[in-house]
Amino acid sequence: MDLEKLLQKHFGYPSFKTGQKEVITSILSGRHTLAILPTGTGKSLCYQFPGLIFPGQVLIISPLLSLMQDQVEQFKRYGEKRVVAVNSFLSFEEKQFVLKNLMKYKFIFLSPEMLQVPVVIQKLKEITISLFVVDEAHCISQWGYDFRPDYSKLGEIRKQLGNPLTLALTATGTRKVREDIIETLGLTEVTKVEASVDRPNIALYVEKVSDYREKESRVLELVSKLRKPGIIYFSSKKSAEQIAQLLANKKLCKVGVYHSGLDQDTRILIQQQFLHDQLDVICATSAFGMGVNKENIRFILHYHMPMQMESYLQEIGRAGRDGNPSIACLFYAPGDEMLPVQLAEGELPSEQQIAWLFQRLVHAEINFQELKELGGFSDVQWRIVETFLHQANENSDFKGIQESFLKFVKERLQVKRSYITQMKKWIDSCYCRRECLLQYFEETLTVKVPQCCDYCGIEFQVYQEMNQELVTQQTEETWQEYLEKILT
Ligand SMILES: [Zn+2]
Repeated sequence: MDLEKLLQKHFGYPSFKTGQKEVITSILSGRHTLAILPTGTGKSLCYQFPGLIFPGQVLIISPLLSLMQDQVEQFKRYGEKRVVAVNSFLSFEEKQFVLKNLMKYKFIFLSPEMLQVPVVIQKLKEITISLFVVDEAHCISQWGYDFRPDYSKLGEIRKQLGNPLTLALTATGTRKVREDIIETLGLTEVTKVEASVDRPNIALYVEKVSDYREKESRVLELVSKLRKPGIIYFSSKKSAEQIAQLLANKKLCKVGVYHSGLDQDTRILIQQQFLHDQLDVICATSAFGMGVNKENIRFILHYHMPMQMESYLQEIGRAGRDGNPSIACLFYAPGDEMLPVQLAEGELPSEQQIAWLFQRLVHAEINFQELKELGGFSDVQWRIVETFLHQANENSDFKGIQESFLKFVKERLQVKRSYITQMKKWIDSCYCRRECLLQYFEETLTVKVPQCCDYCGIEFQVYQEMNQELVTQQTEETWQEYLEKILT
């Protein structure tokens, strides 16, 4: 089979990206496959391609509802109409219709919570699943930074569906996480395709500043000088808005804000404006970027440190998809690590919330929606709560379940804290950033790139706007001084 010819014919690409061909060949030869492919390498082709050749259906489990919708739209744009997403966005009637007509679809996207519904499993048993795809497979691992309890049941579900051929996809994962994925899914004889996490065309730069004021002025300075478009990542919505306002007031760039606090329409609008070059900088939280396929992003700034190396890697990986020189700059001010700790704690229900919840369970009829609102649970917290509520529904040992819930929260906090510590360690490291980053992912640096990191030396001119001469003499001087400072 001439895979390149098929690729050209069906998808219009002349060649495969790193890792794609290996994954597709492995799947076509009927082997379970674990693929670690960096973001931007076209993971969906890895199941779309075999799907065209296999007679049966392709089932794709994906944890992110918005990403799922994006993918369905993308499939449709490329002319694949036999695609559907079964998730909570569908009305009851729509769900009924889709489940009745599952046979007619080739690609079926499912959220993990839909797989908890017995009738869905029943319907899935009636079709021929040629390929079972687990996207964002690191969510399976309890050692992963984004462990989702409903993902841990996928092994059991896979068994119920007759152990179909499986493809587990993720962008990153330490060895421990990879082993956990294979074990939980119950896979034997797995082909592993592991592309390097290194992105040689992205220079890595970290700067420690003394306080927020200095950070602010450094970010404004860099944004005014660096070639655009770019993204500035924040851990707080408020800071994202403040800096965007400053950039707009100073007319430094055409800037937009993106975070989960904005309504869906605004978010789509901002994303579209950025994609079509009407905005050149986005001040965003980590909510921005999934499914954004923009090739020419030239810089990623981190105003706050991410919660883990995996997120950092994923976020900087949005730069330079066209292969041209790009730069990632992270700013650190003393105490910055407190913010991710707070965020980690906020993602989990508190001890008080859990105690309140179980008190309610003992008496009344359980109305999930009401419990969620009265208990003040966020969506992220509720996803975890639901798993334990399902257990409480099946088993009346509330005390036992409550204890295991508390134990779970404690363990998750510990895992998350250790990820933050690792991130901080990288910021504090005193040798090549790239080498250190690769070490974290158990890789070794083989080829040294000329524009590597703040330790190996970066020529900032490479990343500056062409018309820098227009910048006033004075700022030009401070910029030169600055360059000298970091290069000597
Ligand atoms: Zn280096």
